[in-house]
Amino acid sequence: MTSVPETGSIPRDVRALLEDLGVASETLSGGAFEAKTPITGEIIGRVRLGGAADMNAAVDAAHAAFLAWRSVPAPVRGELVRLFGEELRANKPALGRLVTIETGKIVSEGLGEVQEMIDICDFAVGLSRQLYGLTIASERADHRMMETWHPLGVVGIISAFNFPVAVWAWNASLALVCGNACVWKPSEKTPLTALATQAIFERAVARYRKAGHIAPDGLSAVVIGAREAGEALVDNPRVPLVSATGSTAMGRAVGPRLASRFARAILELGGNNAAIVCPTADIDLSLRAVAFAAMGTAGQRCTSLRRLFVHNSVYHKLVPRLKQAYATVKVGNPLDDGTLVGPLIDEAAYAGMYKAFEEAKASGGSLFTGGERIRAGVPEGGVYVQPTLIEMPEQVGPVLKETFAPILYVIRYNELEEAIRLNNEVPQGLSSSIFTNDLREAERFLSARGSDCGIANVNIGPSGAEIGGAFGGEKETGGGREAGSDSWKAYMRRATNTINYGSTLPLAQGVKFEV
Ligand code: NAD
Repeated sequence: MTSVPETGSIPRDVRALLEDLGVASETLSGGAFEAKTPITGEIIGRVRLGGAADMNAAVDAAHAAFLAWRSVPAPVRGELVRLFGEELRANKPALGRLVTIETGKIVSEGLGEVQEMIDICDFAVGLSRQLYGLTIASERADHRMMETWHPLGVVGIISAFNFPVAVWAWNASLALVCGNACVWKPSEKTPLTALATQAIFERAVARYRKAGHIAPDGLSAVVIGAREAGEALVDNPRVPLVSATGSTAMGRAVGPRLASRFARAILELGGNNAAIVCPTADIDLSLRAVAFAAMGTAGQRCTSLRRLFVHNSVYHKLVPRLKQAYATVKVGNPLDDGTLVGPLIDEAAYAGMYKAFEEAKASGGSLFTGGERIRAGVPEGGVYVQPTLIEMPEQVGPVLKETFAPILYVIRYNELEEAIRLNNEVPQGLSSSIFTNDLREAERFLSARGSDCGIANVNIGPSGAEIGGAFGGEKETGGGREAGSDSWKAYMRRATNTINYGSTLPLAQGVKFEV
């Protein structure tokens, strides 16, 4: 495995990592599009951007692959995903490091992202023997009803920069065991991790074939491209399902296009996640959970904590300690030991943060700490900011929006009803948390009259989901569900079958039709 480089040699490090991971060197220098690391802003690769024609060619190949793959028994399809999981295990250090370099998330989070890919592969392998349908009681004598789940076709996957490989793996591993082929359009901000993942997948395919199994060419393809390539994927009639992860603006563009051709959509869009800290909360635990959820990944998770509702009775216990944590958290090179907050992805992200910050002040917010651009003690060329804590008198202005940066708005409350109302009174509905040791408060929050989010947690923060549960959110978050539970059903088509094993033909609902 490649040795650990010192700061300043990132491009060389990337080349070595990609070589380790099996990406052909021409792929990195053959194109006009500059891939950059947010750590230093350096160019780490020049890749070719594919357009609509490349996308359509990949879809055609994937469709042909699907026609063969759908007939491979599901547990045998699972074997390919098992081998892919093995390859990921072997390549976790290199791919995790590349995730850190390409996104700026800290080393443990880069590795964690690859672990998430491994976990979902394991889940999908088990699932490959559990694509169960139902047997249903028929109202007619000598009849049996059942439902069968069949492969769907080509699954399009559009992913965002902040989880450049895990989100693809959530979709692809399930889609593949369900008998589909996949075409992936990763974020243009993170092309290299996508190319590396594809190379790892192709090694699994080679091993699968060597073991005597059939894996058609084009079963899973990646097309590095910008919006044009994404649109071609969305509009292609051979793609019955597109799983699209990104901003609500992207979902607003993609959703109606898919609906206009009656294609399925899994939309995983922006979040504006809240936590409520109640009078009985364990303050130490709440502090750690809030700090990770709000500052971790530099606030660039869809599940990052952005709104904190603190009961008046514990405000003085929690908020001063939180201020302290914000003022002292180590911001810097995410490759360095001890760094907890890396850079923002680009200058545009800082512009968005600054705008929200100004709007918050104009809406009556008072700055507790943070907000400054950091220039000293961090690598030159990256966008490093001090995470920001702002007290707001009410939930207005920027508090209602997702700003993809480490800004946490703190609001006091007196009654739980009021806090739950505030939790729900934003356009987004992804993740939420309550910190309490009062059973009634916890259950109230989880009940039908509680949080309206796809994810509602007790005594853990809103970010850092496990793959075993279905992941996704309501309202402007898009309504999609991915990963665990029965999310696999979105990747298959359901057929209801009625079988008559008698010699008469009774009609349903007693209808008579004698000819
Ligand atoms: P983005 O919306 O800018 O881009 C996401 C992807 O969509 C990219 O691959 C992009 O090229 C593509 N795209 C953009 N417009 C398109 C169009 N019209 N047609 C087809 N494809 C198009 O998002 P980003 O900045 O990469 O990521 C951050 C956003 O993603 C945040 O809002 C975050 O909350 C969200 N996100 C959501 C989840 C979730 O599971 N809910 C997970 C990760 C990120």
